[in-house]
Amino acid sequence: MEFIDLGSQYCALKGQIDKNIETVLKSSQFIGGQFVDALEHDLAAYVGRKHCITCGNGTDALQLAYMAYSVGPGDAVFCPDMTFVASVEPAAMFGATPVFCDIDMRSYNIDPASLVSAVEQVRAEGVLDPKAVVVVDFLGNPADMDALTVVCDEYDLVMIEDAAQGMGGSYKGRKLGSFGDVAATSFFPSKPLGCYGDGGAVFTDDDSIAELMRSLKVHGKGASKYDNVRVGFNSRLDNLQAAVLVAKLEKLDEEIAIRQEVAKRYDEALGDLLVTPHIEPNCVSAYAQYIVLAENELRRSRMMDALKGNDIPSLLYYPNAISTMPGYAAFPHELCPCAIAYSERNVGLPFSPYLTEQDQYRVIDAVRECI
Ligand SMILES: *Cc1c(COP(=O)(O)O)cnc(C)c1O
Repeated sequence: MEFIDLGSQYCALKGQIDKNIETVLKSSQFIGGQFVDALEHDLAAYVGRKHCITCGNGTDALQLAYMAYSVGPGDAVFCPDMTFVASVEPAAMFGATPVFCDIDMRSYNIDPASLVSAVEQVRAEGVLDPKAVVVVDFLGNPADMDALTVVCDEYDLVMIEDAAQGMGGSYKGRKLGSFGDVAATSFFPSKPLGCYGDGGAVFTDDDSIAELMRSLKVHGKGASKYDNVRVGFNSRLDNLQAAVLVAKLEKLDEEIAIRQEVAKRYDEALGDLLVTPHIEPNCVSAYAQYIVLAENELRRSRMMDALKGNDIPSLLYYPNAISTMPGYAAFPHELCPCAIAYSERNVGLPFSPYLTEQDQYRVIDAVRECI
């Protein structure tokens, strides 16, 4: 059993994916090209945003967002203490200061109250300028957008949505990737919308920010490629990856619907024994991962051993809160007990829209038996 079954997805979509790839190979148009253009158009329409700009990976997408808003030395960037490190890594690289906030113990997303107290503290200290917050749709589950928007308005923070895990999910009818001043996503193969290598994109409704990001990702180009009006970098999605994504985007909503069914089956079968995911009403999680919480670290490791004994893979998303890791421990933070508790108790079960019903019950039976 695969943790995420990409092979079955390929079999299901093979006709269209192979056809698109062959079109690219025959065109010899590898950098830029019809599928990159089509993807930017289709994905902007899908998410409900004016601009979609593709780039090399999700980390670059976040980097573009930070650069577009000139995040740098003296700026505080707030982010949840439980996320993938790339949410805030570019901010740190640009000399800004990440400030870690605790998560809400039901949604596992940034807790708006923790954000407010972190911003208040930074303000009171008067050393850093509260500049931006990275709002992560952790595990594909939408963050508390209404409450966070109020906080951003009140404190004049740039909102950067990190929707790397959220493609296909929605918050009160609005697709993830459409929130914040700018949103970033990743097409890493295991994400809800993944390609066959690296890829990423940013979304915005702001014409001038879009133009700026289009320049930054091509070495700071001006009117032409060899007229460099600012310092940028190189980050592009290639046409082959876009060809795969165009084919997969067509099926995304169908897959998201099946993800809900698989999640419901796990919820109903395991909810009495473990903490199963909590999704707010009117929200749809993209279920990038299906995570349960064991009672404690010891029980979690026993459960993982038992699953392994049954040839069932399980993984931690993630094993460490960011602020506890050596590369980030020196940045200022209050203790984030919920993020730490989550890191000790979480475990991801095999999950994908292509996980057979039989395998779902194998997982369920193995988990129930070992508990
Ligand atoms: C995967 C991921 C990223 C980074 O994407 P890459 O394409 O691997 O660079 C950023 N943020 C979150 C929350 C992610 O899950």
